[in-house]
Amino acid sequence: MNDFKKGLMQDFSLTIPTLLEHAATNHGDTEVVARLQDGNIFRYTYTDLANRSRQAANALMRLGIQQGDVVGTLAWNHHWHMECFYAIPGIGAVCHTVNPRLFEEQIVYIINHADDKVLMVDQDFVALAEGIVEQIPKVEQFIILGARGCIDEPTKLGEVLYYDDLIADESTAIDWPEFDERSASALCYTSGTTGNPKGVLYSHRSTVLHSMAIAQPDNLSLSALDCVMPAAPLYHAQSWGLPYGACMVGSKFVLPGRHLDGPHLLELIRGEGVTTGCGVPTIWTMALEHAEKNDLDLGKLQRLLIGGTALPTDIRDRLRSKGVSAVQIWGMTETSPLGTIGRVNREVAAWPDDARDAQLLKQGRLPWGVEMKIVLEDGSLAPRDGRTSGDIWVKGPWIASGYLHGDGGNLLDSEGFFPTGDVGHIDPQGYMKITDRSKDVIKSGGEWISSIDIEDVATRHPAVSMAAVVATFHQKWDERPLLFVTLKEGETLDKQAMLDHLKGKIVKWWTPDDVIIIEEMPMTATGKIRKLNLREQYWHHLKDQAAG
Ligand code: ADP
Repeated sequence: MNDFKKGLMQDFSLTIPTLLEHAATNHGDTEVVARLQDGNIFRYTYTDLANRSRQAANALMRLGIQQGDVVGTLAWNHHWHMECFYAIPGIGAVCHTVNPRLFEEQIVYIINHADDKVLMVDQDFVALAEGIVEQIPKVEQFIILGARGCIDEPTKLGEVLYYDDLIADESTAIDWPEFDERSASALCYTSGTTGNPKGVLYSHRSTVLHSMAIAQPDNLSLSALDCVMPAAPLYHAQSWGLPYGACMVGSKFVLPGRHLDGPHLLELIRGEGVTTGCGVPTIWTMALEHAEKNDLDLGKLQRLLIGGTALPTDIRDRLRSKGVSAVQIWGMTETSPLGTIGRVNREVAAWPDDARDAQLLKQGRLPWGVEMKIVLEDGSLAPRDGRTSGDIWVKGPWIASGYLHGDGGNLLDSEGFFPTGDVGHIDPQGYMKITDRSKDVIKSGGEWISSIDIEDVATRHPAVSMAAVVATFHQKWDERPLLFVTLKEGETLDKQAMLDHLKGKIVKWWTPDDVIIIEEMPMTATGKIRKLNLREQYWHHLKDQAAG
């Protein structure tokens, strides 16, 4: 036998309990802080988190939860939910984070589709669970996240258990069961802006590798000296992997609960010494507005990781004036979610400020572990010229290979790449820029118009709060862009003023055919603009307008 065929390194499984045990052993005194439902602050350490997670794991095993069973959670970002992130996968079960902001029918669909056996319910979502209890008969047990007395009884959920009481007498020691690192660890559904939501099933291995990736300095850059606050919900791509990444490096961790308004977020940022936050732009807009109105600084905050939708220039500039850098990340539930990140490389670092700033408004460059290709309509690969747009495909150890129960069919191409549904291009420096989601693409006279670029310019108008550009039917050009805006409080704007503002900042033929001011943007359950609604509603707008 040839001694050199196999390396002599240990077979150490990449499983989630290793992250928790590492944090407890090496960063045991580091704090984990949570904002509770009533607004009060709860505070404990990684040692406590590990003890309670082990107790919860023991309790779940006592209840008969086995490897491969699915345990749902319906909860905000707080320590109970974080413990579920370790206790459930730690025993080989699957932690299914249900998004409570989805429509009721979708929540029912998801819980049934995933075969949730147990549902962990936030005190705030008891009424929500009661409203659907008869439609989710496969859920055998509801566990309320809190102690007896935290909600009014009786509840329509039957004989509920209370998490704090359930785990109280359990041992804080555990022999974590052994299983393959490729075992499923967590389940997260895409929000299903079209069709039914689809289940993305993460594994222990994908989670640990993703944690290592996000921690790197050129990615989310997490260290033991950081204080990390995920404002992205734990039910949205697992708060971008931060609950696991933070344990891996031992950062202080702050969970903002349901209080995502400006004053509450700012109080945590300043009071807890948050250095790094993550979330969609709308969340940070609220925090910024509060800081600006009250002339407050942002404490020790160094960077905000912004993703989910394109990073608006306006937010970047306002953060910068407060000494905070906005780092753009692109990804999706299916990519765990790190896909690309807007960080300088050696070449871009040497560019003049303006050019570098413009470059970092692109969605970013690839970390190790994500491979990407842009495929054109005829199946050929787009050149890396920063111009030629096509469908974005990705491949890597934390990228989905398909959806739960085979939904959507076989998605990978012959080279193992996954279709993201986004359209964009890559430049010679390796930076990807999204021009649109394929379902939002505007094709005018055979050429693509980037809604994202127009939206960015529109939101730079001082009166504008949010902007969305969608396609509308056009007799000659097939599709033309329509611009929808909502205004900041007390502001007014007319169509001509907006068109004047856009002039010279976008290519002329991209100019929207109409500007429509609306009271409120339709939003998805993950805080993005629901463009599909606008597109459907206004598809015949130009014809209707012409008809008077
Ligand atoms: P959904 O929005 O359907 O709930 P995801 O949260 O997984 O699902 O969203 C992923 C999508 O969000 C991506 O495919 C992309 O279209 C969009 N997205 C994410 N980050 C960015 C970004 N930085 N810039 C532009 N679009 C982004």
